[in-house]
Amino acid sequence: MTRRRLRAVPRAEAAERALVREAAEKWKKAIIECRANGNHQWDGWTAAHRRGFYDVSQRCRRRCGAERHTVLDEAGYQLEKWKPRYTDPSYLMHGHGRMTAAGKAELRLIMLAMHSVIEVEDETA
Ligand SMILES: [Zn+2]
Repeated sequence: MTRRRLRAVPRAEAAERALVREAAEKWKKAIIECRANGNHQWDGWTAAHRRGFYDVSQRCRRRCGAERHTVLDEAGYQLEKWKPRYTDPSYLMHGHGRMTAAGKAELRLIMLAMHSVIEVEDETA
């Protein structure tokens, strides 16, 4: 029983990792960076005023294609939570929900592969 349970978890993790590897092949570098870092770099305010309200939008500075939008009243109070919008249809892995810890781990390895890594030999005494 215990053995079966131990096998099931790595299989789900391997599937999640494969899914992320496949999705990442379509992602531009900025998407991989934003997803691996777990954040966007929101920049700039584009605002439209209509009677009583400001519609405010921001874009991600890394140009991953993510935007977010909120509404302020004329006194500057935020009336809605920021809502994200992804202009790149590959950004979200549709039908797969949120990325798990295994998916995020795979994404970090992809991120490392995009950068130079210094090999360090530990000294043996
Ligand atoms: Zn971003």
